[in-house]
This record gives sequence, C-alpha cells and structure tokens, in this order.
Amino acid sequence: MNETRSNSGRRHSARPNLLHSGPCLWAGMMMAIWAAVQPPSVAGQSRVPTISVETLADDLWVIRDGLGSGNVLLYDVPGGAYLVDAGAPESASAIIATVDSLAENPVRTVISTHYHEDHLGANAWYAVRGARIMGHELLAVEALRDTTIAEMRWERRRANPTSLPTVQVTGPSMIKSGQPDGGTIAAIQKLQPAHSRTDIAVLIPTANVLHAGDLIEVGAYPFIDWWAGGSLEGMIEEVGLIVSWAQGDQRIVPGHGPVIGAKELAEYQTMLVTIRDRARAAIGRGASEAEFLDSQPTREFDAERGGEDAGRQFASLVWYGLTRGD
Ligand SMILES: [Zn+2]
Repeated sequence: MNETRSNSGRRHSARPNLLHSGPCLWAGMMMAIWAAVQPPSVAGQSRVPTISVETLADDLWVIRDGLGSGNVLLYDVPGGAYLVDAGAPESASAIIATVDSLAENPVRTVISTHYHEDHLGANAWYAVRGARIMGHELLAVEALRDTTIAEMRWERRRANPTSLPTVQVTGPSMIKSGQPDGGTIAAIQKLQPAHSRTDIAVLIPTANVLHAGDLIEVGAYPFIDWWAGGSLEGMIEEVGLIVSWAQGDQRIVPGHGPVIGAKELAEYQTMLVTIRDRARAAIGRGASEAEFLDSQPTREFDAERGGEDAGRQFASLVWYGLTRGD
C-alpha cells in the first residue's frame, strides 16, 4: 500500500455557502475514437487492484484502487464511519480491507455521489452488514436500467438492488453528530443534472473537504453521461458554485484523480467553459462536427488531460450533447 500524506490535522472553519436553493451518432472513425472514452462500468475489468491511500486528516482518507475506479472517501467517526462512494465491485475486497485497516469504527453510512458502477458497485457489501446507503432520489432509476448505449458500445448493466439507496436524497441535507459535542458530520448537496442526473456532492465541514464525484475529473477530461440526463451546462454551473466556495484552503476530492485545491478547480472551470464556447461558436457558424474537431478545440488542455486523442473524444462528447439541445 502506498501512502501519500498531503495534509494532516483537522481544519476548522465556517461552513461554506455550498448549499444553494436552486438547483454521449457516430460510425466508422468516430466509433474508434469513442472506444477510449470508457464508460464507467466498462473501465478496468478483470485487473488486479493496487490500493493507495491519501491522508487528508487523522480520520479522513481517500482510497484508490489503481484501476481508475471512483475515489473512495473514508471518514472515521465515533459511532460509525462514513464512506462517500464505495468503489467498484472488482476492487471491493481490497478496498474493504483498507477501510478496515484505517477506521476504528465500522462503516454505518455509505453516500453514493451518483449511479455509476465504479462508484457504488461495492455498496452491497456494506448494506448487508447493516449500513444505510444514501443517494440521489433518481439514482435507482438509472442504476436499474439494463440497456446498451450503442453510440458508446456501452452495456449498462443493472445494478445489484442491494447497492441502491435506502435513504433518498431529495434536497440539501445535513448529517448531525449524535455525540454530545457533535456538529455537522456531513452536508449533502443534491446537484442539478451535470455528470448525470443522479449527482450529489458531499462536504465534510470540519475538514473543509468536498467530494464532488464525477462532476470533477483530474488528469482527464470528464465524462458527460448524456444518456442519464447529464448536462454540460449543469456541470459548468455546479463547478462555478464550488469555485465560489473554494477560495481558501478547501480541498476537493474529484471522482477520479488526486485531491485538488482552488487553483486546479479554477483551471477545470476554464477548460469546461472554453470548450463549451468553442463548440457553441462552431455550431453557430454552421460547422460540421469534423470541422469542429479538426479545429482542435481542446488544444491547450490536452497535455494535462490525457493528450490529443482524449481531447478529441471529449470535444466529440460535447458536440453530441450541444447539438442535441443541451
Ligand atoms: Zn461517473
């Protein structure tokens, strides 16, 4: 197990103003391009996990499986530990062993940031041991679909019903500590449709740490799940809210990749807006998708996010949604 200590010690600050009241058809060449944009349940099958742990505080860790599955945030709280995302089924055993080695308390609550299998596939293990599962009220609707997304050659498998939320998140909610000196353990924000229509973000106020799920990707372009109600506009708006919050020492746990701060978050926002605006402009002047892609609309961001092919894939993903009304 690798351990990288990014920061230790608890952070105490006022709760951020995160809670707001408002709220992927190609043939031939494009199919080949799409092949590398791996939908969540396709990525990383039949490989061996290599666990790493990033310590955010003495009771707060990010656990990764080394296969590209979703980041698992573990918060060890007296009376019952919390997980924000539980990871993929294929790495469940390794993740669970790591959770057990780090936390003094058993996991009593699993909060799922959205419906993708690489984030909630291990939920059932905790559920059968009595943990409550919390997630967006539409999570089960999307997770229970057994369908094939032809454009992505993506077989969306029906989730294990045991992995689904037992507590539905229908709006902003706080989890309060039951301890005498307790405060807010976690603040849960139901997001507008963004990465999907099942997104939530979870803030750990005492540590100033926000798990944003796949709303945010680090070291790669994000995936916009148009087939589950995703929205680039929604992503941009929600990322903007987080940008307005993260002006200090806040830390953001992305769905995948290392923990980031305000600077990296602002760069992510700029990337989304820039590519969105270029796509809009190309659509406005009547360009074809091929002309848009050949204009290299992601050029300055590719080096940080997987290279030119990855940029082209993301540009095509954006084009797909924007030309269909997003
Ligand atoms: Zn996802």
